[in-house]
Amino acid sequence: MTTTASPHALPSYLQADHLGPWGTYLQQVDRVTPYLGPLARWVETLKRPKRCLIVDVPILLDNGTIAHFEGYRVQHNTSRGPGKGGVRFHQDVTLSEVMALSAWMSVKNAAVNVPYGGAKGGVRVNPKTLSLGELERVTRRYTSEIGIIIGPSKDIPAPDVNTNEQIMAWMMDTYSMNVGETATGVVTGKPLALGGSLGRRDATGRGVYTVGVEAAHQIGLKIAGARVAVQGFGNVGSVSARLFAEAGARIVAVQDHAGTIYREAGLDLAALAEHVRLTGSVTGFASAEPLASAAFWQVPCDILIPAALEGQITAANAGLITARMVIEGANGPTTPEADDILQERGVLVVPDVIANAGGVTVSYFEWVQDFSSFFWSEDEINARLVRIMKEAFAVIWQVAQDNRVSLRTATFIVACKRILHAREMRGLYP
Ligand code: GLU
Repeated sequence: MTTTASPHALPSYLQADHLGPWGTYLQQVDRVTPYLGPLARWVETLKRPKRCLIVDVPILLDNGTIAHFEGYRVQHNTSRGPGKGGVRFHQDVTLSEVMALSAWMSVKNAAVNVPYGGAKGGVRVNPKTLSLGELERVTRRYTSEIGIIIGPSKDIPAPDVNTNEQIMAWMMDTYSMNVGETATGVVTGKPLALGGSLGRRDATGRGVYTVGVEAAHQIGLKIAGARVAVQGFGNVGSVSARLFAEAGARIVAVQDHAGTIYREAGLDLAALAEHVRLTGSVTGFASAEPLASAAFWQVPCDILIPAALEGQITAANAGLITARMVIEGANGPTTPEADDILQERGVLVVPDVIANAGGVTVSYFEWVQDFSSFFWSEDEINARLVRIMKEAFAVIWQVAQDNRVSLRTATFIVACKRILHAREMRGLYP
């Protein structure tokens, strides 16, 4: 049966899953539209990814059987430059989740004004169930399959949830073997020996910390002595926690995929990092109390850092949060309903699209260094990162004040205007 859709109707695959991350993103775009002025004419551009690729990733398992995984690469927007964004390996990854993550990359890259569009990738696999050899085969086959749309000036992947420097090295090698030259600029977050950048590993956490300090200053919250609760103890959560602790804050609670721990006097982060390295999670850490996972949201704290997955702060727990400020290390951790509840309660939310932009900012430095084959010192990288983050935050803070909107809507105003201005200047082809 054929149906006649209106020329403005969204394609069916974009209408699905309105309660998930893509639905959250669409609501965020709706909230910014009244502030876009004449550029609102182009807003539909933001509501549909430019290109979505779904690939089959078959690999030989160690036991001799063949397994198929589903892989995705979505290029949401390339108006301001090549696609850019990480690749996650997770058993629950879906196309609509990757679409939302790619759209948040467009917004994030424009918010810090790095010359990229937005993209994201994922493979629907639990990497913890794979041997090292199987993980390498998944990575290489996935890279080969998305090789038709990525490239140093087309779309540049990077690490995200459950992917790391080793996986980036395999991606770089696979792409390079396929094109017949060593193309270091095709991915960022690589090992230093392969054109990686100093400071990249800590960059997202350093950005979370930098923007957090600026925001705390605006609301008169002192970092020294502040109580911090962190959800997620991967690259983002652990580094942010360490930097806040070094500045005199107390990390009172940490939750990860396996459990929640609490210590009012503050956790010993070096000992916790060692425990996680040895056991794979925060559970069973001796010098802390275990908590039930729901209790995490009610922990008495001043700063809450969600640094795990999307959709964690919802209408069900936003009313319980005791923090004065939420800094989003994760992408998409807060639903629009929870955003409203937090705003009503006077809790400042520093949104993902600025708070966690430090990672992609240093990815940009890595890409520039690879192109010029000239590498910078760690001090220079950190100084440039801090300057970009502080300047971007100052602009967004002012826009929020001027328009009496949340920091999320303010970030979307700044970023979406940049994207749509570029879109308009380029014009429609043909
Ligand atoms: N995965 C990170 C993010 O969500 C970094 C992306 C990148 O460096 O391209 O921002």
